[in-house]
Amino acid sequence: MFNFFVDEAKRHGDVFYIDGADFNHIKNVLRMRVGDELLVSCTGKSHLCVIENFESDTAAVKITSEDYRSTELPVEIVLFQGLPKADKMELIIQKTVELGISKIYPVEMSRCVVKLDAKKKNAKQSRWQAIAESAAKQSKRNTIPQIGEVLNYSDMIEEAKKLDLFLIPYENKDGMLATKAALNEIKSGMKIGILIGPEGGFEESEIAAAENTGGKTVSLGARILRTETAAITAVAMCMLHIEMGENE
Ligand code: SAM
Repeated sequence: MFNFFVDEAKRHGDVFYIDGADFNHIKNVLRMRVGDELLVSCTGKSHLCVIENFESDTAAVKITSEDYRSTELPVEIVLFQGLPKADKMELIIQKTVELGISKIYPVEMSRCVVKLDAKKKNAKQSRWQAIAESAAKQSKRNTIPQIGEVLNYSDMIEEAKKLDLFLIPYENKDGMLATKAALNEIKSGMKIGILIGPEGGFEESEIAAAENTGGKTVSLGARILRTETAAITAVAMCMLHIEMGENE
């Protein structure tokens, strides 16, 4: 079933009036008809709806089951991603959105190869946000995760101070005990952060600064993962721990 994100302003009673690009997609691309069902996500809730009728440039879509299904995690996960090379950021965004991420901040770190000027940062952020929206639609998220502005390391540290739990997957960390202990600290309602280094990894001083905020270095296993693999693995590890915990 197709999933559309619709602004609250387009809701009147139990009907959404969908226009613009989404109207065109529904009517002309998907060729949906009156009576067809679809999901509408609005203000973090997902409603089951049916197409009631089409006007010239609007589809009237009636809610048949309010707050139909929540696909959001009961924990907010924020990914702080060391700026990777090439289009790896797009893969990281797509996969972590599917896994339930809440927010992604690109982070400038000492060993980042990529250097973005202000113009490039804005252009990249718009493209990355579009990728997040597309992945949220495909994975039937109730919300569209936000791509934050590119942070420098000290601004990232300030953001990390607002977290309930701050995990630092570190390539030089040995053994899985710290990983297990950190996962067991995760509780519903928490805001947790995950910091992933770029291809070149972390400087010692970066690890020290992150640990000084209460961050916990953890291993993702005995092998060295690519930055994109590490980001996806760490988010998946937290997501599964949370989802399984919820079903206990
Ligand atoms: N340049 C580093 C080296 O050769 O040791 C590897 C950095 S790795 C490509 C990029 C990031 O992925 C690391 O900074 C870390 O955040 C994460 N990472 C990769 N493998 C990991 C592992 N086994 N345990 C924890 N984090 C890992």
